[in-house]
This record gives sequence, C-alpha cells and structure tokens, in this order.
Amino acid sequence: MELTMQVPKHAQEILEQLNNHGFEAYVVGGCVRDSLLHRVPGDWDITTSARPEQVKAIFGHTIDTGLQHGTVTIMRDKVGYEVTTYRIDGEYEDGRHPKEVEFTSNLLEDLKRRDFTINAMAYNPKEGLVDAFEGIQDLKEKRIRCVGNALERFTEDALRILRAIRFSAQLGFSIEESTWEAIKVIAPNLIHVSKERIQVELTKLLLSNHPDEIRKVFDRELDTRICADFPKINPAQIAIDPGLPKEKHMRWAALLRHQTPEEAVAILRQLKLDNDTISKAKTLVQWWKRPIGADQTQIRKTMSQMAPELYDDLLVLKTSVGELELQAEGCVEDLDWVKTQSREIRQRGDCVSLKELAITGADLIQSGMKPGKELGETLKRLLELVLEHPEWNTKDILKKV
Ligand code: ATP
Ligand code: MG
Repeated sequence: MELTMQVPKHAQEILEQLNNHGFEAYVVGGCVRDSLLHRVPGDWDITTSARPEQVKAIFGHTIDTGLQHGTVTIMRDKVGYEVTTYRIDGEYEDGRHPKEVEFTSNLLEDLKRRDFTINAMAYNPKEGLVDAFEGIQDLKEKRIRCVGNALERFTEDALRILRAIRFSAQLGFSIEESTWEAIKVIAPNLIHVSKERIQVELTKLLLSNHPDEIRKVFDRELDTRICADFPKINPAQIAIDPGLPKEKHMRWAALLRHQTPEEAVAILRQLKLDNDTISKAKTLVQWWKRPIGADQTQIRKTMSQMAPELYDDLLVLKTSVGELELQAEGCVEDLDWVKTQSREIRQRGDCVSLKELAITGADLIQSGMKPGKELGETLKRLLELVLEHPEWNTKDILKKV
C-alpha cells in the first residue's frame, strides 16, 4: 500500500502555517483512510496541538464550528477545512458530540478516542503516516475493527455500531469478530442515540455501493432500536440494486417498497428525514408496483400525478426492481414500451400538469368566475379533459368546454 498521499494545497498550507507557529498538525481520519484506498475524500479534517484560540489567532478569518469541542473552520476557495484541537473525549451524550472534552497535547490520545483503526490514522508530509493501531493492516485486510476494546468503545457511543455497519457497506469491508460480537452485546444502547444521528448513518449506508448490507441491522436485532416501525421491514425482502442512483428518496423507497405508503412515511418521519425526501419516497412506494398505463392517455394520467423528474425516477426504480418482481406483485407491463410512449408524450409537449394547461385561474376569473374552490375544481376538470384529448389544450377550446 502506497503510504504517501496527495494532500490538497490548501490543507497543506494550513498544516505548514500551524507548524510555523510551533504547533503540530496532521490531516486525520476519513481523509487519510480514503486517500490510502484511492477513494476521493469528502473533506479534509485537520488535527492540531494548537488550542482553538491559537488557531483563531493564526488564521484571522475563521468560523466557530464547534468551539466547545475544539473545532474551528478555515475557508479556502469556498471549501471548509475543520481544524480540531487534539482532545480526549468524555462520555458521549445523546447528541453529535461528547458531553465534555479535554484538550491534550498528545496526538496519540486524540487518535485513541476515534472509533475504528482505519479512521484513527494521521498524516503530514513531513512525518508521514501515524498509524498507532494497525489501521494499515486492517485496510489491507478489509476489516472494520474498534480502536481498543470494542465493548468499551460501543458503550461510550452506541452510534458506532451503525457506523461500523455503514463503513463496511461503503468500503466493502467485513466487521472483525470481537467488534461484531460487541455489537450484539451493546445493541440495546442504541435506544439512547438520537434518531437524527441514526438516520445519517443509515442514509450513508443506503447510498453506498452495498446498500443490501442494511440487512446486518436485522441480523443483530438492531432493527427494534432504530425506530418504532422499522421492524415492520422484512429483511428477506430487502434487495436494493446498487446501480440505483445515489439519491436519498430512491434508496429509501427501494428499501421500503414492500411497506404500505403510510408505513414508509411513518418510518421516514420517525427517523427525521426531510419532507422533500419523505414526499418523493412516498410517491415512489405508492406507484412502483402499479402499471403506468396501457395507452398514452393512461400514461399521461400517471405523469400528471407527480413532477416530471419523479416520474423518471419511478421508471428507473421499476426497471431496477425488474419485471420478475413486478409480475410477482401483479404488475404486468412492458417497461420499454412505456418508456417509448412517455418519450413521445414529452416530445410532443402534451399537457400533463395544471402548469401546462393553456388556460389559467386568471383567465377563468376574467371570464366571470369567482376565485375559490369551484375555480380550482374547474381547472382540474379541464386538465382531466386535456389528459384525454391533448389537442384540446388551447385557450379557445378550453373556454368553450
Ligand atoms: P465520512 O465523512 O466519509 O462519512 P469520516 O470517517 O470522515 O467519514 P466523520 O463522521 O466525518 O467520518 O468523522 C471524522 C472522523 O472523526 C472519523 O474518521 C473518526 O476518526 C472520528 N469520529 C467521528 N465520529 C465518531 C464517533 N462517533 N466516535 C469516535 N470517533 C468518531
Ligand atoms: Mg468526514
């Protein structure tokens, strides 16, 4: 394994500036792991012996990201670099961070607090790689292993259980045995972890190259601690195509497709997903096993039920699920034919939404109709007509019908 890495210019300058003021500084954690694996790091975190006040004094313009935890963000070319003082973590609470932290001047103490060996390496161009816990060995052997005693580490923060599963899905790694055993023991503690943190890890897992790894959550009976309705998912039915676009609503919908739309929404709400994702995923769960339509009118009617991008996502989801499963659900249709028809409808510019209707609410008011419920219903009725007769979508015709 190549043990040098390409640190981006700005991160390197930050390290140098800290060094020039007499402080130690390294890039650390996920960016070191990803670089060694030839993956593109999402962000470059820096760990330093300098205290937050000292970092601020050196760099002038900084953002107080989490001062109480020692983190200051430095912006370079619109990219944020989080610089965090070496620290020892106290007990974790039900938040994103430990209850109290203690700063230290010892890099090893800082690395020791980190969750997994592959996440506990630091690097700087002068000293090379600092790998105190055999992270390299675990990278080579594709293994997720806790730093230190797994039982203790999961007891400090039960979210690490889901992080272990998430990293194994992202990297295609296995979970080392004592780490996996500890997960079984500490699983009940997940109940104390906030739903937001749980959701972030599950979403990252679903967006990974091995989304089916979410089954591990069921192997270890973690499902009962995820959220109230999560155990309604039948692990035997989980099959998420890794080729599915890495978008939240697509991956969550693929996971939840065998639930009723109401159950799917309940799970997503309990996990505090954003409303946009919930609403899109709900539509996909509602529609994936319904035939889109046997003729162009029916296809237009389906199109009118959702935004155009979501309609495209629906076709992608159906395709990824495959005709076999669709047929098993009683949905018999020729997807290729539907796609061709849909393209034709789009190319012709047929109206499939109120927005595209040739007549507007304002037009109706001008011709004497009062604003209100009836007006809305009239517009809907006109849309229904136009969905059946696209050629009627002109002001003149619609005024007459
Ligand atoms: P990614 O950003 O790709 O999700 P990452 O490894 O950078 O992965 P982050 O959540 O950004 O993960 O955390 C950065 C680093 O902080 C980790 O690599 C790890 O060293 C440490 N870390 C994060 N969360 C925890 C935790 N709950 N317990 C212990 N260490 C943690
Ligand atoms: Mg990160």
